[in-house]
Amino acid sequence: MSSPTALPDDSLARRRTAMLLRQAPLEFARAVYGINDLASGRSGTYAAQDVARAEGMGVLVTRERVQQRARSYLPVEGREHCPRCWVFAGARSPLALESSLGGNCEVARCGNCGGEYPNP
Ligand SMILES: [Zn+2]
Repeated sequence: MSSPTALPDDSLARRRTAMLLRQAPLEFARAVYGINDLASGRSGTYAAQDVARAEGMGVLVTRERVQQRARSYLPVEGREHCPRCWVFAGARSPLALESSLGGNCEVARCGNCGGEYPNP
């Protein structure tokens, strides 16, 4: 425990979980935008493309379903999964953590959808 960079940072992990939990309602809002965009022919928006990709995976993307998934999103410390992949497609995509600023900050990245979640 002598190395200052190797200390496990519980508060960082807790902040990460809280930060990811706050993303779920935002992803729900994005999904609703995407559903509405697609319904009105604006298929070029990022939100619409995310909806189209989830539908391409055979997932039902309705307002009701994405709301259910957003409410059930529950990241587990050490095994966090991507809130966007979960809300849009019900997929558990693992997040890769990249620390910065001497380990006080980090970015969680999703290799599946390309989502990036800075913490803090
Ligand atoms: Zn993702």
